[in-house]
Amino acid sequence: ERQWKGTHGILRKLARECATPVSKLWEVANDLVSEMEASLASQETFSTTLNMLVSYMASLPSGDEEGVYYGVNLRGTNFLILCARLGGKQKPISDLYREEIIIPSDVVTGTSQELFDFIAVEVEKFVSANPENRDTGGAEEKKLGFTWSYPVDQAAATSGSAIKWKSFSVDDTVGKALLNDLNRALQKHGVNMHVFALVDNAVGELAGGRYYNRDSVAAITLGMSTDAAYIEAAETVHKWCSPLPESGEMVISMELGNFKSPHLPVTEFDASLDAESSNPGSGVFEKLVAGMYLGEIVRRVLLKMAQETGIFGENVPSKLATPFLLRSPDMAVMHQDTSEDHDGVDEKLNEIFGITNSSPMARELVAEVCDIVAERSARLAGAGIVGIIKKLGRIENKKSVVTIEGGLYEHYRVFRNYLHSSVWEMLGNDLSDNVRIEHSHGGPGAGAVFLAASANLNS
Ligand code: ADP
Repeated sequence: ERQWKGTHGILRKLARECATPVSKLWEVANDLVSEMEASLASQETFSTTLNMLVSYMASLPSGDEEGVYYGVNLRGTNFLILCARLGGKQKPISDLYREEIIIPSDVVTGTSQELFDFIAVEVEKFVSANPENRDTGGAEEKKLGFTWSYPVDQAAATSGSAIKWKSFSVDDTVGKALLNDLNRALQKHGVNMHVFALVDNAVGELAGGRYYNRDSVAAITLGMSTDAAYIEAAETVHKWCSPLPESGEMVISMELGNFKSPHLPVTEFDASLDAESSNPGSGVFEKLVAGMYLGEIVRRVLLKMAQETGIFGENVPSKLATPFLLRSPDMAVMHQDTSEDHDGVDEKLNEIFGITNSSPMARELVAEVCDIVAERSARLAGAGIVGIIKKLGRIENKKSVVTIEGGLYEHYRVFRNYLHSSVWEMLGNDLSDNVRIEHSHGGPGAGAVFLAASANLNS
């Protein structure tokens, strides 16, 4: 009896500290707007928590583009090669081919040159094997969009990769050199393709959003990592000193994961996760929202419950002390389990932590912890979306389409629902009609293909 009282105490405190009433969400959204403005105005990088990099200056697709385009989406230890035929004028994409290539570990830890050579060889194979290639004629240079998507710190920590992938500003010399190297590798391996930009996945998704709708203004990545890109009026980017693009628009890669605000609901579990991470003090928003961390936060809460109130029996299950053992897809399964007596939770606890015979009461608590952590994450992501739309001054009188991409949003139903309702609650019935949230077009990595279709590409 005393045991459950203690456990419920921990749970109640967690729920209180993770609470995100609408007033709090607005505080977070307003802080985001201020940070965005401060960063756009500032000449220095790192003067605010957001970097707000000018990531892309060419026009995004208009939706009229037709033809076959290619894409590469680089991930931690693999990449996707894609090709698709764009039909133009509201026609859906067709003939989408996607292949996942595992990058050998010596290449993962090797130089950018080795990686690009490997990619070029695989692209060459893909193109030769692909029937679409025949009717586009071999002579014409093909366009390849290149996006990457994985958390930078995670990659640096686990892969030991020689290249530190980060968002590059279009005028970044390191980014430019990488782009040249990649194009040279393609040439060297006889691939008649050109890459015009290296951008993070959110920018590719934004290109996909634009292809289908002129009102697309932002794209958010909610997967392993958290990021966002949006379209900004060029004249408001005071930190940009070079000539402005003809379109008058710039794509800003926000590095949203680095957003920090005193209004973010942070608990002791988040604080210890941060302190023990490879990048303490940074990635604050990401550590509350991203798929990479959600399961880990839940694990920390469960460990405390096990240590202090023995919810899993007298001994603390040893595996419960292993960082990052609980991944968010497993958390989602426990959270969304509707079986009698939470048998599904029992199964997962056993499978992941070797916890046998958990009591129905303990399982119920596990599901509740998952709920609290997922709800906070989803609602904060919703506040981020509303903040971006507010920054653009589009809440009251303009339609905005926001594209969301990533496994967390795609596969975690309850998370998705929480996100939608937070946006709806923040904006109210009438204004929420102005914001349309769309799931990414074409599936994982397809943003790269739409990027390839961008008109007037800059070189
Ligand atoms: P990435 O972010 O690496 O590009 P994805 O967009 O595919 O990759 O997202 C993968 C992440 O999405 C996983 O790390 C996990 O956090 C989350 N995820 C995937 N499937 C699920 C699921 N069924 N339930 C909850 N989270 C999921």
